[in-house]
Amino acid sequence: MKIAIVANGQEKSKKIEKELKVLIADTNAEIEMNSPDIVITVGGDGTLLSAFHQYAHLLDKVRFVGIHTGHLGFYTDWRDYELAALVESLSKDQGNSVSYPLLEVHVTYGNNQQKKYLALNESTIRNVNRTMVTDIFIKEELFEVFRGDGLSIATPTGSTAYNKSVGGAVLHPRINALQLTEIASLNNRVYRTLGSPVVIPSDEWIQLKLSEHGEYLLTIDQLNFKEQNIKKIVYKIAKERIHFASYRHTHFWLRVRDAFICDSKVGEALE
Ligand code: NAP
Ligand code: MN
Repeated sequence: MKIAIVANGQEKSKKIEKELKVLIADTNAEIEMNSPDIVITVGGDGTLLSAFHQYAHLLDKVRFVGIHTGHLGFYTDWRDYELAALVESLSKDQGNSVSYPLLEVHVTYGNNQQKKYLALNESTIRNVNRTMVTDIFIKEELFEVFRGDGLSIATPTGSTAYNKSVGGAVLHPRINALQLTEIASLNNRVYRTLGSPVVIPSDEWIQLKLSEHGEYLLTIDQLNFKEQNIKKIVYKIAKERIHFASYRHTHFWLRVRDAFICDSKVGEALE
């Protein structure tokens, strides 16, 4: 088994990376950064997002494992004091995995040039210097004309990230759907949008038709791009999925409760 380790810049993470390498050296697994079977991240959810983009070209063969060095993460199951148990699970690995949906973002420019991105959390689009105006289509039908700061389109696992901050719902990751959420929409007697988040099933897609004269900020997870001359953006659930090595299961609603409400020791455990 070939293992890559991606740690964030914190001292604590670097220390754990070293300890992990020592433990792995004692097994029949080896460290291999270029074409790994397993990518272990050490840090937070942001570290896992970076590793996802680093290995996005290998999604069909790579499985991810997240070790968190801070508070409970959504993509990070293992605590820093559980390294021995994790390496033990790795050495007994039977290839089990759990996979989650990804967002495909397809941008078409005025000159018909095209770009495709994959997001694990979400993609947002905003106009840099004025109100963003865009036609929103669901499939090929015009749904509404949006005016406001921008829009967020999130995956189920991204629903607890930026999506939640802009009033989106938390979606269980078994639901294969995308969520469109408004960022400060203008709503009055002249301009009207639905005003609530919309959840789109896997056989539908969202299209934005934008003014080619606008200057936009496009984000794909933690990455951001200043864009000009965008004509159209299509969002759909990607064919690719992200795979996590599953050695144990943390109940999704337990993570949500731990992250946003209270420590899991308080109150009853969720099954
Ligand atoms: P960051 O500024 O460190 O991220 C902001 C926070 O979001 C961090 O606490 C991060 O956790 C957490 N986070 C990331 N993915 C999450 C998920 N799927 N569910 C719940 N929380 C999550 O930047 P980053 O670490 O590079 O992460 C980029 C992501 O941050 C973006 O994709 C976006 O979703 C989110 N973000 C949110 C806001 C906001 O809520 N207003 C603003 C900017 C970015 P860790 O500390 O474990 O990394
Ligand atoms: Mn972070």
